[in-house]
Amino acid sequence: MDLSRRDFLKATGLTSVGLALAGLGLDMPTVKAAAREFKLKGAREFTSICHFCACGCGVIGYVKDDKLINLEGASDSPINRGALCSKGLGYGQIPNSKERPTKPLYRAPGSDHWEEIGWDEAIDKSAKALKKARDENWKQTEVIDGQTVDVHRTDAIGFIGGSQINNEECYQNIKMARALGVIYIDNQTRVCHATTPPAMNAAFGRGAMTNPWGDLKNTKLIWIEGSNLAECHPMGLKNVMKAKEQGAKIVHVDVRYTRTSKIADHFFQLRPGHRYRFPRSYHQLYYYE
Ligand code: SF4
Repeated sequence: MDLSRRDFLKATGLTSVGLALAGLGLDMPTVKAAAREFKLKGAREFTSICHFCACGCGVIGYVKDDKLINLEGASDSPINRGALCSKGLGYGQIPNSKERPTKPLYRAPGSDHWEEIGWDEAIDKSAKALKKARDENWKQTEVIDGQTVDVHRTDAIGFIGGSQINNEECYQNIKMARALGVIYIDNQTRVCHATTPPAMNAAFGRGAMTNPWGDLKNTKLIWIEGSNLAECHPMGLKNVMKAKEQGAKIVHVDVRYTRTSKIADHFFQLRPGHRYRFPRSYHQLYYYE
């Protein structure tokens, strides 16, 4: 008989499963009839990132019948290595939530309620309002230092973007804002990182994070100031905990005692309203009233 190794394993495997099920008083047709279909069978898989916090954890989503049926951490992401925090996991519920508006909502001037409108109507209304504001407030020229110069801009419109949108979306957004003559352009960074970019610019010449999350695990001292990393960036904390396992000291300086303070070796609580002088070494933290 010509039997390959694979055929042999299949046959013996099935036989032993069959015998085991028979021992339990079950027969294969009954088991097959009761078996549920694999949940992800036939689903389209896509990769993305969790948009909740600046960790930017990798996620894998599965879509079936136009519905997101599963979301899980991407195991090859160096940030989260397959894990997701509760916010990232909860993210999977948003697309299918009944609470989530799926159509544009419009509130007419003076009205006290929102009404559903179609996408074409919403885009049309937005475009007309944008053009009206721009045309009514267009500045062709301006006098600067006694000289009339062409400025081609409007001061009536501001543009705000998110901090988690990708490069292509940023490119499109900024192109649109500039083409409209908008000069007041901002994004979430100003709100979330008002103090970070100036400090990082001074220290490293660049306002954005200069190293990947994974680098944290290689350090010997981690100083966390004014942040509740444990709850705000849980997957980033994994690297801090790895560093701690390897002997690093964790220092937390904050006005509140949080879960981050709990995992720190040293917690220094600041009292709002007092002037502090920071120490040359973390052993010497003290404050002046
Ligand atoms: S840490 Fe949590 S909220 Fe932040 S990106 Fe990862 S899964 Fe999302």
